[in-house]
Amino acid sequence: MPKGTLETLLLAMYIMCLTYTAYKNMHIKTICFMDAKNYGWELNETIDYNWKKLLHNKTQEIVRLNGIYKRLLLNAGVKMFEAEGKIVGPHEVELTQLDGTKLRYSAKHILIATGGRAQCPAIPGQELGITSDEALSLEELPKRAVILGGGYIAVEFASIWRGMGASVDLFFRKALPLRGFDDEMRAVVARNLEGRGIKLHPGTNLSELIKTEDGIRVITDHGNELMADVVLFATGRIPNTKRLNLEAVGVALDDTGAVKVDEFSCTNIPSIWAVGDVTNRINLTPVALMEGTCFSKTVFGGQATKPDYSYIPCAVFWYSLSLSLLRAVGFECLFVIPPLSVVGLSEQQAIEQADGDILVFTSTFNPMKNTISGRQEKTIMKLVVDAETDKVLGASMCGPDAPEIMQGIAVALKCGATKAQFDSTPYWKSGTCNDPSR
Ligand SMILES: Cc1cc2nc3c(=O)[nH]c(=O)nc-3n(C[C@H](O)[C@H](O)[C@H](O)COP(=O)(O)OP(=O)(O)OC[C@H]3O[C@@H](n4cnc5c(N)ncnc54)[C@H](O)[C@@H]3O)c2cc1C
Repeated sequence: MPKGTLETLLLAMYIMCLTYTAYKNMHIKTICFMDAKNYGWELNETIDYNWKKLLHNKTQEIVRLNGIYKRLLLNAGVKMFEAEGKIVGPHEVELTQLDGTKLRYSAKHILIATGGRAQCPAIPGQELGITSDEALSLEELPKRAVILGGGYIAVEFASIWRGMGASVDLFFRKALPLRGFDDEMRAVVARNLEGRGIKLHPGTNLSELIKTEDGIRVITDHGNELMADVVLFATGRIPNTKRLNLEAVGVALDDTGAVKVDEFSCTNIPSIWAVGDVTNRINLTPVALMEGTCFSKTVFGGQATKPDYSYIPCAVFWYSLSLSLLRAVGFECLFVIPPLSVVGLSEQQAIEQADGDILVFTSTFNPMKNTISGRQEKTIMKLVVDAETDKVLGASMCGPDAPEIMQGIAVALKCGATKAQFDSTPYWKSGTCNDPSR
């Protein structure tokens, strides 16, 4: 077994949201075509769609980006191994390469960044279902999709598949999807999903899947049955720690199997660190990047740096790339399933966490973009404000362009903006703003 020594062992970061973004962008185009008619575009009644071509181009794009990242790392002097790693000592990692050969490397620091993986419910016929990993590489677009889960991955896949013409049934445990988001916003999202033809099944679980000639028979815990081509389990993700041999070296894990770390991302073993989903803090790409940056500043920059988790904007249904593409080709009809975006505290969190009273300001209106397309989807915006200091504690929006708008508002909130400052800032009259006639 060959051995080597490195300054740091990084186990292991890769791109995750990439495939997903490609799919989201593509279903948005379908919806834009539909709205375009009311903006005077002459389109044929049927728009042909080539799923295989998308699949091929998506794979090509991932290969291209992987190549770019590999070159960036190589040029920065990083030595890369395509292998599965496990930790065998406080300063040592064992790699199993693709051909089965093993390597051992020792290093001053080890960084664990192995992410998370989807978990499936233990029901009969579970093997007939898929997770988001497989959903991104389906050979055919499903005609009938059943999705179990109420989180953002479930809701986004429901929107993507429905947007491309599939019939979609979404099952979740709570009364509304998107647990953890502002309740008022969740209700708006549920209405919008139903408005787009997605069948919602709140308070309902799946109890069995049965393979038949006509597809998968899905049986719910209410005793109902329906048929599906694809059943997607989007029932949460768990940290990827199982095969890392962490117990053997004494790295502490929490109840969910996540690596326990301090504020600087260091584990209980001083030479072993962990960032990203494997620590199950806030499982988002920019957060993993922030934690990685703080780790490198702390360990190599001589500047102990803690990640700052305040005011992290978060969006459900991201579509910025497609919007710019569509604008570039002249589609200003733009209307997609309205995204939800939030930053800071929701109303419920503010009630629980704020010291004094809070004030809640909500505005619901029909955006200008909807007037000609005729779409009946309201935009809702909400600010949660500390009554005593006037400081804005949280902002939420469900409507066109919400993710981009919230990204800017996140900066204001981080700077401590007050409601009075929001009110005194003139606004730009855009397609997202209020149509006063409705
Ligand atoms: C369907 C889906 C949609 C998402 N959409 C968004 C979004 O819109 N915005 C957003 O911010 N976040 C999104 N996320 C979350 C985001 O992908 C994660 O938060 C982010 O990828 C975490 O980065 P990470 O580096 O911790 O882990 P990952 O990106 O998961 O990377 C971990 C890597 O480690 C590798 N690995 C695992 N074990 C080993 C081992 N033993 N040896 C070597 N390598 C190993 C894995 O193969 C993987 O390549 C989405 C996630 C999913 C599943």
